[in-house]
Amino acid sequence: MTFPKAPKGLRLTQTKEPALSRPVKTLTAPKMLYLPAREDDKLYVQPKKAALAGMPIYPTDSHFGVSFPVYRDSVLTGFRTFPDTYHDVSFASLACTEGGSFTSIPECEMPPAPEDILGLSRACAIWDNCDHTPLHKKLARYMEETVQTLIVYGIDDQPYISVNSSPVFAEPELLLKGIELANQLIGAANIRILLPKDLGEDAPKSPKKLGGDIPVSTLRVRYPHRATALANETTVVISAEALVRLALAFSWDAGGMMTTVSVMGDCVSEPCNVRVPVGTPVEEVLEFAGLSEEPRAVILGGSLTGSVITDLATPILPGMRGVLAFRKAKSPRQYDCIGCGKCIQVCPQNLMPVYIYKAYQGNNKDEMKRLKVLACTDCGCCSYICPSNLELTNTLKQTKRLIKEDVFDEAD
Ligand code: SF4
Ligand code: SF4
Repeated sequence: MTFPKAPKGLRLTQTKEPALSRPVKTLTAPKMLYLPAREDDKLYVQPKKAALAGMPIYPTDSHFGVSFPVYRDSVLTGFRTFPDTYHDVSFASLACTEGGSFTSIPECEMPPAPEDILGLSRACAIWDNCDHTPLHKKLARYMEETVQTLIVYGIDDQPYISVNSSPVFAEPELLLKGIELANQLIGAANIRILLPKDLGEDAPKSPKKLGGDIPVSTLRVRYPHRATALANETTVVISAEALVRLALAFSWDAGGMMTTVSVMGDCVSEPCNVRVPVGTPVEEVLEFAGLSEEPRAVILGGSLTGSVITDLATPILPGMRGVLAFRKAKSPRQYDCIGCGKCIQVCPQNLMPVYIYKAYQGNNKDEMKRLKVLACTDCGCCSYICPSNLELTNTLKQTKRLIKEDVFDEAD
């Protein structure tokens, strides 16, 4: 099997150790949870026939396309927002009582019925980080197709992050269980696990096979790597992290409500991958992983695509892959553009970041639209490469917001 190569992108040194070869730690009892919900949302109890019978959830949120499970023995203390990170999303604040837990998942028959697998994926907010799709939607779509190949995506193309590659090394049995459950619905004849060729100097060697007969392929990856480029009508790509969550959902009470983040940075005493309930605040994740000193900068998300957060109560939601805590805030001096064109060369969307940046500074909306800024994927390559340290990606984000507001205004 051959895999398409990314035409553009950055060759980055991937630092995955020591988190990659450490066991995954699990935080089971958070003190607070913040779950997407509006004040007029009513708690919804799963119908009896579903695998999560009797489990209270907040209903599907339009921003995420999944439901959010409610921690048993938690007290709703109010509603709030995190405008710097999640625009226009309202969160329910839940104080969790000591000794509380998630509602037990009732025993369901094995192998589970397809609707139980889909129902559990949806109700546990399982999100596939490789293409930002709710897992239940992807599985339901491919149930209708004749799938030949399932690619298990074990690639994390950003430095420090190892949530997709870690299951192959740290939790192969759970990964195999998740593959079995997903393949029960999609029925792929061929299954292949995909890992990056370069996991860093100290990383363990990739196995040739998993579970005796599932081949493991390695790929030389550039950032940004696109899982979607590997998928088509007969090939489905699912991240290893989503498959592990699916397996956990059937094997352990709280497992399905957990998402995994890599916790790294020079303030973290023991960098590792941590499994936490969705909605756990960043400060609790850092406290659990252990800090050697107070961080000056905390980044939520990927090392390239993440955002610096100042409110450490910001919750971890499905699809977030990292929490990075550093001693120094990165504030390199910025210089004028020297016209080197590197930002244009590196942009995987074939945009011209420097010209969009200038159009934004000149408040020239027509020019911003002409330069197709809405196609920007926020990958961060242009900012990374710019020798003048210009905040290109952030500026492009602002630009996109301006253009979208304009579109809405025109529609009114
Ligand atoms: S952030 Fe946007 S403009 Fe910059 S390289 Fe990525 S896609 Fe291109
Ligand atoms: S990479 Fe930076 S300095 Fe070079 S053209 Fe782009 S904005 Fe200007």
